[in-house]
Amino acid sequence: ANGTNIKTYFDGAWHDADIPVMRAADHATFQGTTVFDGARFVYGLAPDLRAHCDRVVRSAKALSLNPGKTGAEIFDIVWEGLKRYPKDTPVYIRPNFFGIDGGAYGIIPAETEAGFYVVLEEVPIGAPDAASTLTTTRFHRPTLNTAVLDAKAGCLYPNNARMLMEARAKGYDNALVMDALGNVAETATANIFMVRDGEAFTPIPNGTFLNGITRRRHIANLRADGVTVTETVLTFEDFRAADEVFMTGNLNKVTPVLEFDGTHYQHGPVTKRARELYWDWAASAA
Ligand code: PMP
Repeated sequence: ANGTNIKTYFDGAWHDADIPVMRAADHATFQGTTVFDGARFVYGLAPDLRAHCDRVVRSAKALSLNPGKTGAEIFDIVWEGLKRYPKDTPVYIRPNFFGIDGGAYGIIPAETEAGFYVVLEEVPIGAPDAASTLTTTRFHRPTLNTAVLDAKAGCLYPNNARMLMEARAKGYDNALVMDALGNVAETATANIFMVRDGEAFTPIPNGTFLNGITRRRHIANLRADGVTVTETVLTFEDFRAADEVFMTGNLNKVTPVLEFDGTHYQHGPVTKRARELYWDWAASAA
């Protein structure tokens, strides 16, 4: 903030000062200009960390923020932080850029360098058999002209929160989410795959949902292992006819899905193979 006579209420008290939340986070808190990424350090490995660092920079630019940092620089910052943990500690890595007002009081973020921080915290990785259940949701992915969808932006997530709350109120863990056309896009927190007759299928990216880094890694791994993986238009009916369904995302890498709204699946061989291939690849890429 560039004004005078600033008073701020923060941490339960009034301050006559330009306290950090006003100095640093005003555009982000008022206009929602935050972008983040999530990556993992597990078993001493940080799979695709560089890709996650590059993506948070691209996300910042998509929201018209000036990141002032490269993915390579963020990668080095993160590794400096990771050295503070024992090698076997499972760490969740979250870099964040946030918009600064710059004095314009407008909705366009300042051209000055965006704020930046990284949060590292110990978070265990899900057990291989930690499964999920899915249901339908009334809430869909936005269209390309109604949200900034080429960013992993905090402002997109309240819609995902209500998908999850709706699913949990129905007794399920997560939701299978449609895009604006009614095709399956992803879940509220991760990408989605299905397996039928030994072949894998996943929704073809159309710009309205995240073409996840973990998703792309699994596609490459499975194909290299001889599994046919088809990116195509998929509907709820396709998912009802599947033998296996699994979710992919940076946090837990592969999560088997055991039910979609009354249709049950096995924790099957392709899902199990995807997990093995993922960690084999991560070890060989380290
Ligand atoms: N979709 C959504 C909505 C997500 O939040 C995530 C997790 N970032 C993903 C998909 C998976 O993306 P990635 O594999 O790049 O983490």
